[in-house]
Amino acid sequence: MQIPQRQETGGGTAVNSDKRAPGPQDALAYAENIIATLREPFVVLDKSLRVRTANAAFYRDFHVSKEETEGRFVYELGDGQWDIPRLRTLLVQVQSNSHPVEDFEVEHTFPAIGRRNMLLNARRFPSESNNPELVLLAIEDKTDHRRAEAAMKNSEVRYRRLFQTAKDGILILDADKGKVIDANPFMTALLGYTHDEFLGKELWEIGLFRDIKESQAAYRELQEKGYVRYEDMPLETTSGHKVEVEFVSNVYKENGHKVVQCNIRDITERLKVERALAKVLGYADDIIATLREPFVVLDGDLRVKTANRSFYDSFHVSKEETENCFVYDLGNGQWDIPGLRTLLDEVLSHNQSVHDFEVEHSFPSLGRKTMLLNARPFPPDSEHPELILLAVEDVSALRERADELAEASRHKDEFLATLAHELRNPLAPIRNAVQYLGMDSLKESDVRTARDVIDRQVKVMVRLTDDLLDVSRITRNQLELRKQRVDLARVVESAVESSLPLIQQCGHELTVSLPPEPIHLDADPIRLAQVFSNLLNNAAKYTKLRGHIWLTAERQGSDALVSVRDNGIGIPGDMLSRIFDMFTQVDRSLERSQSGLGIGLTLVRRLVEMHDGSIEARSNGSGEGSEFLVRVPVFIQVFHEPPKSDRPKAAALSECRILVVDDNKDSADSMAMLLRLKGNDIRTAHDGLEAVEAAESFRPELVLLDIGLPKLNGFEVARRIRQQPWSRDVILVALTGWGQDDDRRRSKEAGFNFHIVKPVELAVLERLLAEPQPKSV
Ligand code: ADP
Repeated sequence: MQIPQRQETGGGTAVNSDKRAPGPQDALAYAENIIATLREPFVVLDKSLRVRTANAAFYRDFHVSKEETEGRFVYELGDGQWDIPRLRTLLVQVQSNSHPVEDFEVEHTFPAIGRRNMLLNARRFPSESNNPELVLLAIEDKTDHRRAEAAMKNSEVRYRRLFQTAKDGILILDADKGKVIDANPFMTALLGYTHDEFLGKELWEIGLFRDIKESQAAYRELQEKGYVRYEDMPLETTSGHKVEVEFVSNVYKENGHKVVQCNIRDITERLKVERALAKVLGYADDIIATLREPFVVLDGDLRVKTANRSFYDSFHVSKEETENCFVYDLGNGQWDIPGLRTLLDEVLSHNQSVHDFEVEHSFPSLGRKTMLLNARPFPPDSEHPELILLAVEDVSALRERADELAEASRHKDEFLATLAHELRNPLAPIRNAVQYLGMDSLKESDVRTARDVIDRQVKVMVRLTDDLLDVSRITRNQLELRKQRVDLARVVESAVESSLPLIQQCGHELTVSLPPEPIHLDADPIRLAQVFSNLLNNAAKYTKLRGHIWLTAERQGSDALVSVRDNGIGIPGDMLSRIFDMFTQVDRSLERSQSGLGIGLTLVRRLVEMHDGSIEARSNGSGEGSEFLVRVPVFIQVFHEPPKSDRPKAAALSECRILVVDDNKDSADSMAMLLRLKGNDIRTAHDGLEAVEAAESFRPELVLLDIGLPKLNGFEVARRIRQQPWSRDVILVALTGWGQDDDRRRSKEAGFNFHIVKPVELAVLERLLAEPQPKSV
């Protein structure tokens, strides 16, 4: 060993390379320097085990000073903290043995620095001497090292345990060879191979890939990316059981050697649950899609998650511009409705459902809408709802309908007032005339005047009730037409005939122009005549006295066109389309000069429509006269009219045996009186049984039979009469207050020839009887 020389320099020492021979002091200093430089604690003890010297590392590591250490007996150091049995054993061993003691491990807890693991190396000096002077003790602090080792061991155990108990299958492969080098028990259970059967196999051999090619492709990808993942890989176990797995694999280094770890998770159950969930969600989506009312699902941030077709259709928006859109931004902010904000705030902040919240809003493209909103948070009992389910019911039409109904009801009330007024009007003159007739010594002309008054007023009442009946049938869709081939001219003539008295009474001039050629229609002649007569009556009513009325009928292509025009009071423009509505009158005041219920034109329009035609009102306004244009299709097939002589004539109702049956004695007697005046032979009866007996003994040619009779009703009376052989040619006429189709049907079944609604006019009776017999009702 080359020992550097030690040189005295004042009080200090220096080491140089002087060629002077080294002395023992130099060697000592040299040794002390070595000790001082050591990073490990080092102590030199004398033979009595007192500390001769220790290095800075010792003082630092064991938190002691030079002063309290040097010269002290080792076991007394730091209040005896070095009095460690293992140290005693070591020192005894060193002192008694010339061999050094190496890596002697001591574990000891020091008051100041805690538990320490120390590796002690000790030797005596001089080593060969039997009486060594010194003991050199090097202390290596292995505490951190030991801890790291223990941690490592723990972690290895932990990871192994994880590997063993993992609920995922884990395979470890040699990255270069691609063969399995380890498999955990779960893998064994999953695929049905034993641990050893896995070893040395490639992935495709244990069914993880369909074939070697697929396996190699996956392996290449893994090599390139260091990671592969397959979300759903179908597998078959050794027992043929099908499972679905998620496969994740990555490469890492283990002790410098590349390995592949494959994690295989059995997701069969999870997929089952997911599929069931998807089915349930699909079911919910289907329900939403099927709903007829618009439906929106919003997320917690009020963005549209989904909406149904009805929503898109009702609010004219597309799926694309709706989904994921903030609800208040929808359709350029058209859903930014204060009412909706209130509702959604309520749902979100109080987590409460809201029912039938009515919101009215004007949408730019849809106009004003009234909506009923129903909203509920989902999940229902969570503090922060994830979704808001919102059903939007458009009740605008309902509200409008309700308004219309209210309006209709108002009209009806007005109508009832008008009706009462109209029915009372004719009663006063009738009562006056009756009182007048009761006076003594009346002149023939006075009686005629009174009778005319009664006749006119009764006609007014009959017309009113007829219209009422018709209108009631129309509203219940029970009005039936008896269509036949008719010549328009005949229908017009009949209408003129019935309206003429009123027209003449008002002093109007009537100009009728009919086409030179017949125009044939497929029509109900009575109903169509009613249409024209109604228009003529209106023209007469709404034209000042001595006005002018024109009726023109002509053919226009495939239509027949009938115009009824007057130079009367005219119709304001805004009323032109409305006058056809039920109960509508331009002047509703009860003081107005003209009678009427405001149902005539409703009836007219409906009847025209039932003839596949149309009607239009024209007027240049108040005081400018009016025109009503009726258009009905002509009957195209050529119709051979029977020779004129065959046409029914009014029968002369005279010299006939007639039985009049009515439980209202006045009705029966007044009819009997009229018929007797015409030269007929009359009997009367006032109940059903009496009627049957009278018929039997009197053998009438004509029976005017009321239906509602005591003892036996009119249908039954008719049936009994019809059972008699002599009754074959008897004409049975039902006289009733009921003109419904069902009543007519029952009359026909009972054997009646005619069904006439009371009060009956002689002229009508004569016209009916003139038609060929037998006649259906
Ligand atoms: P009514 O005559 O019983 O009031 P209508 O339904 O026949 O009922 O007619 C409805 C309304 O139409 C009448 O009240 C009247 O105001 C108006 N109107 C009908 N015909 C004419 C007409 N020729 N000229 C002027 N106004 C008419």
